[in-house]
Amino acid sequence: MYLLIIEDEEKATEQLKKGLAEANVFTDVANNGLQGLILAQKKEYDLILLDVMLPGASGWEVLKKLRAGGSSTPVIMLTALDSVSDRVMGLQLGADDYLIKPFAFSELLARIQSVLRRGIERKPDLLRVADLEVDFFSHSATRGGKRLDLTKKEFALLSLLIHRTGEALSRDRIAERIWNLGFDSNLKIVDVKIGNLRVKVDDPFEKKLIHTVRGFGYVLEDRDEGI
Ligand code: CA
Repeated sequence: MYLLIIEDEEKATEQLKKGLAEANVFTDVANNGLQGLILAQKKEYDLILLDVMLPGASGWEVLKKLRAGGSSTPVIMLTALDSVSDRVMGLQLGADDYLIKPFAFSELLARIQSVLRRGIERKPDLLRVADLEVDFFSHSATRGGKRLDLTKKEFALLSLLIHRTGEALSRDRIAERIWNLGFDSNLKIVDVKIGNLRVKVDDPFEKKLIHTVRGFGYVLEDRDEGI
């Protein structure tokens, strides 16, 4: 098992590392948010322990960017804050569990095991809409069995759309999830990137899967466009 610890407090990190090593768990450590995000995107970890209060980028931002990038690696948030709104926010952003500091090491181990068990049952490695397949394990997409040559951002965009099949996503929401842009940003980028994605995903095929929701945003779905 291979874990990433994103935590800036040295003493806490050392204790975690040592305890986990005794449980035969290998770890990498990042002591700020940005470094953590880079590692998380580069390597395939079984699980990430993510502190909320971090220099560089907060645990929330790291989690948001990870999920926007299509990563489904389980995340346990570590935090000194114990408020319902924080917990709800973490779960909405896609955290798998939550531990309030200080915690007993045995509790952490139990949570890790439970999250990993759940993950095996739940984690979709592959999502399919009509003849479009997105494989999150190999980070690739095919249509009609033919591999689509997507950039990283295009893959993230397609991942977001296919995870929400049938749900209209606003341009704001897409911009926020994929490019971390605020609500006042120029949303042209969304239209341009969706256009690029369509060239690859839809143009060569008769059946279109990415649809414009006029004045709002986009939706990916298999529409029966028969008579
Ligand atoms: Ca901290």
